[in-house]
Amino acid sequence: MGTYREQGIVLRTYKLGETDRIVHLLTQGRGKVRAVAKGVRRPGSRFGGRLEPYSHVDLHLYEGRNLDVINQAELIAAHAGVREDYARSAAGSVMVELTDIVAQEGERDNALFLLLRAGLQALDAGPDDPAVFVDAFLLRLASVVGFHAFTDACALCRRPGPHAFLSVKAGGTLCPGCAPAGTRAVDPQVVEVVRVLAATGEWAVLPRLARESAEAHRTAASYTRAFVEHHLDRRLRSYDLLPRS
Ligand SMILES: [Zn+2]
Repeated sequence: MGTYREQGIVLRTYKLGETDRIVHLLTQGRGKVRAVAKGVRRPGSRFGGRLEPYSHVDLHLYEGRNLDVINQAELIAAHAGVREDYARSAAGSVMVELTDIVAQEGERDNALFLLLRAGLQALDAGPDDPAVFVDAFLLRLASVVGFHAFTDACALCRRPGPHAFLSVKAGGTLCPGCAPAGTRAVDPQVVEVVRVLAATGEWAVLPRLARESAEAHRTAASYTRAFVEHHLDRRLRSYDLLPRS
């Protein structure tokens, strides 16, 4: 059985036996990896502290029959700021929890890796209102796994928008012709907030967007939650624990 080197972000850890830990990681090259870190709960363990959730680490592993074994771990970025207060760690835990659900073992997914890294970096920088980063993360993650929220065109007939009707099931905005009778139009600002949340790239604009379009952001956030729960077929329980200003 071979040894290999990988970069990974720690998603979660479990106790195993008296002194070991099982670590779930999203790696850059192999998708999700479940590995054992032996002896890390012994006092004075060399690298136990480097394998905290949210940490970005450089690892040496060897392939085991069921679980791989971590031989060595060096910190690339601890993302310690994510653990610093309740709001940020609640936001970080939604990000890693959902990543753990969608990541496939043995399947490289660089877009997912870069998204998680960017989301944790945004939280690590200490934003006032971390919840908006979670909203963006959720819509961007849905997009990475194949469910992009349409905002520039009708999600059904692709007629160019913007359109004023929003549908969770159809996957974004709907034109007047496709919207079911009785659908209520939303404020154009809501569609614009959903568009920015779902767009890949900029994180720095998000806090201002949430502040200046507070009402539209609230509606966009409930849409985001419903969208992700529907298309990923998951209840987002930890999302309820997010403090919102
Ligand atoms: Zn249409």
